[in-house]
Amino acid sequence: MSKWVYTFGDGKAEGRADMKNLLGGKGANLAEMSSLGVPVPAGFTITTEVCTHFTQNDRTYPAGLEEQVADGVAQVEKVMGARFGDPDNPLLVSVRSGARASMPGMMDTVLNLGLNDTTVKGLIRQSNDERFAYDSYRRFVQMYGDVVLGVEHHHFEELIQDLKDDRGVDLDTDLSADDWKDLVSRFKARVEEELGRPFPEDPQEQLWGAIGAVFGSWMNNRAVTYRRLHDIPAEWGTAVNVQAMVFGNMGEDCATGVCFTRDPSTGENVFYGEYLVNAQGEDVVAGIRTPQHLTIHGKQLHGSDLPAMEETMPELFNGLCDVRAKLEAHYKDMQDMEFTIQSGKLWMLQTRTGKRTSKASLKIAVDMCREGLISETEAVDRIDPAQLDQLLHPMLDPEAEKDVLTKGLPASPGAASGKVVFSADEAEDWVKRGEKVILVRVETSPEDIGGMHCSEGILTTRGGMTSHAAVVARGMGRPCVAGAGDIRVDYKAKTFTVRGRTVGEGDVITLDGSKGEVILGSVATIQPELTGDFATLMEWVDGIRRLRVRANAETPEDAATARKFGAEGIGLCRTEHMFFDPKRIIHMRQMILADDEAGRRKALDKLLPYQRQDFVELFEIMQGLPVTVRLLDPPLHEFLPATDEEIDDVAQAAEVSPETIRAAITRLHETNPMLGWRGCRLGVSFPEIYEMQARAIFEAAVQVHKDTGETVVPEVMIPLVSSKKEVDLLRAVIDTAAKEVFDATGASVDYIVGTMIELPRAALRAAEIAETAHFFSFGTNDLTQTTLGMSRDDSGPFLQYYREKGIYEKDPFASLDINGVGELVELAAERGRKTRPDIKLGICGEHGGDPASIGFCEKNKLDYVSCSPFRVPIARLAAAQAVLGRHQDETA
Ligand code: PEP
Ligand code: MG
Repeated sequence: MSKWVYTFGDGKAEGRADMKNLLGGKGANLAEMSSLGVPVPAGFTITTEVCTHFTQNDRTYPAGLEEQVADGVAQVEKVMGARFGDPDNPLLVSVRSGARASMPGMMDTVLNLGLNDTTVKGLIRQSNDERFAYDSYRRFVQMYGDVVLGVEHHHFEELIQDLKDDRGVDLDTDLSADDWKDLVSRFKARVEEELGRPFPEDPQEQLWGAIGAVFGSWMNNRAVTYRRLHDIPAEWGTAVNVQAMVFGNMGEDCATGVCFTRDPSTGENVFYGEYLVNAQGEDVVAGIRTPQHLTIHGKQLHGSDLPAMEETMPELFNGLCDVRAKLEAHYKDMQDMEFTIQSGKLWMLQTRTGKRTSKASLKIAVDMCREGLISETEAVDRIDPAQLDQLLHPMLDPEAEKDVLTKGLPASPGAASGKVVFSADEAEDWVKRGEKVILVRVETSPEDIGGMHCSEGILTTRGGMTSHAAVVARGMGRPCVAGAGDIRVDYKAKTFTVRGRTVGEGDVITLDGSKGEVILGSVATIQPELTGDFATLMEWVDGIRRLRVRANAETPEDAATARKFGAEGIGLCRTEHMFFDPKRIIHMRQMILADDEAGRRKALDKLLPYQRQDFVELFEIMQGLPVTVRLLDPPLHEFLPATDEEIDDVAQAAEVSPETIRAAITRLHETNPMLGWRGCRLGVSFPEIYEMQARAIFEAAVQVHKDTGETVVPEVMIPLVSSKKEVDLLRAVIDTAAKEVFDATGASVDYIVGTMIELPRAALRAAEIAETAHFFSFGTNDLTQTTLGMSRDDSGPFLQYYREKGIYEKDPFASLDINGVGELVELAAERGRKTRPDIKLGICGEHGGDPASIGFCEKNKLDYVSCSPFRVPIARLAAAQAVLGRHQDETA
């Protein structure tokens, strides 16, 4: 018979940490902690396989589950010395979700389950506190009513408010035991009114109701959205954890808290966490009360005047420190833990790998390697390339003037400016209209996830470093300032007020998530420093990776940035961008408008010195590293004027009539320009254009070699080829230009001529193209466009439906369609190599900076990837991880 239920507790467990797929993260780690002898309330985990069965079989359970759950309950009763449903000594349980990957707050939870009019008496006896018992009972009815029975939250809130009005009090704490008791009946009556049947009294019925609700919540909208944003497959399912309740809210010797084995913001090796005395776990995460720090160090660092746990409960604090040391040494990674203290006894409720900022992630990996906990390879394997991205983003310029409105907690680093909006829905609407927004909320909840994702930054006025907003923003890499307590938000008026100043919807603010500052207006930013831990890790990365990493760059600034980020050459210099300068465009236009070759040559002669200078600068910056220069690619009409005014200007400069220009524009108009007169078709039609460019390349190479002594080996690249004959013809033009330059200067440089492979026919005919081409560079932007027959410029709107329906899991223009486009790349590489075993192979489409696509390039042993300068470090890391086996099957 299949095993559906795994028990844990009392220093034993049936599961293990490496059983996350079956038990979910929470369940697997509860089992592991229990085996390690860490104090964990006894419980059991119902496997993710049951979730899959439940989802696929009309919310029913597999055979044998009922008996196994009953055995699980019996086991928990034995360990905890209490009985489920017992009037004198009742066992109460929590029922929580726990998926393979953490999905904070996305699914349902029920606490205090097992309470009814009889067992509540037992709880009074156990706790000696009638008020606590009835408060727990009403919390249970409220939570169960909402989560399991679907009676909306507001019903209960309303009843609480009515009762407070009756009693003439404001705060929950002003309500007595009798009041809570009264509320329990009112709650139950309302449930019966809404549902037409009574609230379930039978603990068994309660338990199965909660189990069903938690499994069902795997398919709720929040969870579905979260999975889509985090690429979590629906097939994984969630486990359900049923665990004995422990109470952090049973008096002043009780507490609950969240802690990290190292500081999740900075990565520093200090114990970091927050706790609340006499509270339930949910109170810390919800950010309703401001939590206190665990350590004196943390309290001082954050300027808090509330006493630290280290001061108020020193013995329990030491116990927690022991757990910290034990778990970190065991898991060899920073842990995020939840604990509860019930009547002076410490219980651990959860441990998992802690989410951290990218800065912390780097520091922790590098430190742990130095501490001997992990190897260099493990350190490299641990860094998420997407997280590295955060470190490469601009920070606020410290020199810039800034009008600081207030300060909150530095909850997630980085800086961002945007227009203020006050709801997640508005954030999404504004972003759809092309605006950049900052989401301002009192606090955020899991429903806000979509709006948080599309915002540049998030500001909350309540909650701590572990509040929902802080945790989610860190995970998403959005700057976040949390708990900015002196801001007053008025949702109705769509304004917030701080220290007498009012900011309205649509006003621009800037957040500095590293400092916690909220600034009026937008502020200049600067590039981050790439030294310290970053440089160390990158050294390890470079020791592991095989793929070379180049950058797509054509301006000296981009080339310099690329070098700074460690690019090992330029993989794509798009020369067309060089002709838009006002001094040049006029000659370009003259060239296009010329009636014959002589006219074109006249204009091209004017362009040559500019073009030569462009290459001189690039070659100098790249200091002998390879530079691939692509000859002119876009359709010529892109260079022509658009407005009447521009047409008149051009007409005057070119000494022709505006009508001549209009006629040329009409003549060059294309219905389908992406498949039109572009790429090497320009060179085939007007070889003198490529001849000028080739000449500029060789003259520049000779000059830089003469001036600097660097060996420049230009790689001249022909775009959009589909046949060998095109390449033969154009290579002859390039070779002739080279020979002429070398003859004229009496100097020479080595060079190679290659092609882009960006049309399916080029991939198919790769064997013969390689007879003439020394290298192939896969232009996967066009290759995706032409293989899928989907316009790279127009596919956004309909691709959205394709992704929603799972036809393409990812945007094929961002992450290589490995099964389709990838097959063409593989085939072309193989055929090219057959002809020319040492053919150089690279990729220069947008995919060159995407980890999954880089995994594919590693698998197929390409020589290099080329991506935008800012993505170079990400590509270096992904290339190293690809050697370690990561990213290789992600899109397959
Ligand atoms: C490509 O098509 O992948 C490519 C790199 O060229 P471009 O984006 O300039 O068309
Ligand atoms: Mg292209």
